[in-house]
Amino acid sequence: MLEIRPNCEHCNKDLPNTSTEAMICSFECTYCKTCALEIFENVCPSCSGNFVERPIRPQKEITLYPASTKQIFKPKDLEKAKLNSDQFKNVSPKRR
Ligand SMILES: [Zn+2]
Ligand SMILES: [Zn+2]
Repeated sequence: MLEIRPNCEHCNKDLPNTSTEAMICSFECTYCKTCALEIFENVCPSCSGNFVERPIRPQKEITLYPASTKQIFKPKDLEKAKLNSDQFKNVSPKRR
């Protein structure tokens, strides 16, 4: 089940379940749109995969299956992230 992490891993912005700013990679690395799309250019700095918008869990489900409360805040080394983004941003996610 998707964890629905509470914050951006890079800038620590709050990303509650209802946020439309949350982006995730296939490993659920979670970032705000600014970090995912503008800073990392749609290349995950951890796994090099692409990001998609995180779905919002419906109200009746979020009470039964609550969002994670475990903060993961690990700002990335921007030089390394840029090398990673430059290597993969023009490669289709299917071919990364
Ligand atoms: Zn962010
Ligand atoms: Zn990732």
